[in-house]
Parts: sequence; structure tokens; C-alpha cells
Amino acid sequence: MKNLGKVWLVGAGPGDISLLTLKAHYCIQQADVIIYDRLVNPNILAWAPTNCTLINVGKSSGYHCVPQEEINALLIRHAQTHRNVVRLKGGDPYVFGRGAEEVECLVDEGITFEVVPGISSAIGGLAYAGIPVTHRDFASGFHVVTGHTREGNQQQDWRQLARLNGTLVIVMGIANLPFICEELLMGGKSPNTPAAIVMSASRDNQRRLTCTLGTLLAKAQEANIAPPALIVVGDVVRLSDRLSFIPQVIDSVYSESRS
Ligand code: SAH
Repeated sequence: MKNLGKVWLVGAGPGDISLLTLKAHYCIQQADVIIYDRLVNPNILAWAPTNCTLINVGKSSGYHCVPQEEINALLIRHAQTHRNVVRLKGGDPYVFGRGAEEVECLVDEGITFEVVPGISSAIGGLAYAGIPVTHRDFASGFHVVTGHTREGNQQQDWRQLARLNGTLVIVMGIANLPFICEELLMGGKSPNTPAAIVMSASRDNQRRLTCTLGTLLAKAQEANIAPPALIVVGDVVRLSDRLSFIPQVIDSVYSESRS
């Protein structure tokens, strides 16, 4: 069957809808079909035309509500029958979340595509929690890693990561937190290294817990961590109180999304 449409792989940012790019906004307004994940703020969907088909393939940490093969099949099927298919993903579409695999499948099928980058929670989400991912005095680089690796795949070498300088940002790591903390300490990371957990970054219910690597596990167990959450280990966490701010609600963006 000939492919009629184009698939736009669009990053929806960490949560605050005013963090979407202008191009993401355009794509959503032109969409015939939107296939979206659980981490996408549903208010964004109100920008879609009234006759747009909305498909929730919501994924939660480590568990796919709709198997990846079915998502791929949905993308192909809709590209054959619709002009603008938007694949909407939380944060940046190429920072985990299997965005590249989806695009590979489009390439295999000869489907036209475009990628619209978004603000990743691993950088922008931290900023909303007052944590700059780099700082000349505290971190000259950063590493964003997953705490959840596919079975059979090479596991993350936490002891190796412990030896690196710079900020360590771990996504999808909460379920594995006891192991991660233990391994980083075994790898030689000081228990006094500042550490944080940032929950629901840039959303109304954003929460932040700050402590040290040595106390992180106990604090997290007390704190009743709710996903989505980022783990941050590094000296930049020291700045989080000083650099915290209350984000302004951009009324025009929100009222448009509710109309
Ligand atoms: N592409 C996304 C990441 C997908 S992996 C991005 O660039 O942000 C999903 C993980 O991202 C979650 O398990 C969580 O660790 C993190 N995450 C995504 N949005 C978040 C948010 N608003 N607050 C905290 N963590 C978030």
C-alpha cells in the first residue's frame, strides 16, 4: 500500500505545556492522528483538531501497556491512511523511550518522517527543581543513564559510572534504587556526594528530595516516591535551594489548551 502520510516524532517536554516548542505546537494543530505516551501532559491534546484521532499507548516504567511491535504497526497503518501522524513522547523523543527504534521502523517501510526535539526531563526537569546540570565550580559535564536496562542486554556498569566526574542523572531508576546506591558506593563514590530525587518535574505536583548518596535510599523509602522521577548524584545538587524558582503560569498557553 502506498504511504500517504508523514509521521512526526514529537517531544512534548517534561510536563509544563508552555515548554513545548513552536514546532511541536504546529504539529499537534495539524494532526490527523496523535499516538501518545503516558508521560505526555494530556492538556496538550486539547490543541488537536476536533476530528483528530487520539490513541493512548501509555507506557509506565519498565512495562509497556501497548507492546512496541503494536505501536510500530499503528504508526505504519496510520501513515498509510492519514496525512499527519504525530507520535508524541515525553521529554525529548530520542532520550530513551525507544524513539529511534520507531523511526528505524518507519525508514524500513519507506515512510516520510521528521523528528521534533523536545526538552528532556533530564536537563529541563532538573532546572525546574533548581538543579543546573553543569556549573563551572561543581560539574564540567553530565551523564544521563537509564536505571532500567533490557533483560539480556549489557547491564549498566555502576562502579565505572561512580568513577566519573560530573553530574549523574538516572532516569527510570527508582525501582532499582537500592542496587544503584549500593553499586555507586562500592565503586568509590563518596557517601557525602550530594544527591536528589526530583518527582514530576515541571508539573503542578513537582517534588524534590535532597540528601547525600549515603542517605538517599533511606530518605527515598521514607518519602513515598511517585513516578516519574529522576535521580541526580553530584555536587550541583548543593545549589538546589538557592536556584529554586516558582515557574510563571503562561495564561495564554493554558487557556488555549482548555478551549
Ligand atoms: N524522553 C524522556 C525520558 C523517557 S524515559 C525525556 O527526555 O525526558 C522515562 C523516564 O524519564 C521516567 O522514568 C523518569 O525517570 C523520567 N521523567 C520523564 N518525565 C519526568 C518528569 N516530569 N519528572 C521526573 N522524571 C521524569
